[in-house]
Amino acid sequence: MDCIFCKIINNEIPSNRLFENDRFIAILDAFPANLGHALIIPKKHYCNIFDITDEDLQEAYKIAKYITIALKDTLKIDDFNLVQNNGSIAGQTVFHFHIHVIPRIKNDTVTIHSKVMEFDNSSIESVKNSVVKALSENTF
Ligand code: AMP
Ligand code: ZN
Repeated sequence: MDCIFCKIINNEIPSNRLFENDRFIAILDAFPANLGHALIIPKKHYCNIFDITDEDLQEAYKIAKYITIALKDTLKIDDFNLVQNNGSIAGQTVFHFHIHVIPRIKNDTVTIHSKVMEFDNSSIESVKNSVVKALSENTF
């Protein structure tokens, strides 16, 4: 499979590794939004949030938390975004599940907030009711 993260995991291409165990790696992003921008990547090739197992998702966020704490202590930075893109419209460019840990500094160039949209109450109510129904029909 032609996946850049699988190649990094298999040591076919280099990376700046922060952490590795039998199921995950954490590396520095090669095109960072800020110094210390890290990626938490499961060794198993999941495309996105829809196919990663609950167990690996939990573990990925646990590792992301500890990477964030290590970056906080190292960089003396208190502000971070944890971001996870799913699908090309959502900005995903590498289709192997990963969590971004992005340190934030005052007046940096990272953008997270979008323009606020307005919707009529019936659309909001309809979405709310549909999601509540979908959740009630799902077993977690
Ligand atoms: P996303 O856009 O959410 O799919 O994130 C993919 C991330 O992978 C981007 O932030 C890229 O900068 C990063 N990236 C791409 N190629 C490499 C690489 N060879 N080593 C490390 N990070 C990479
Ligand atoms: Zn992969």
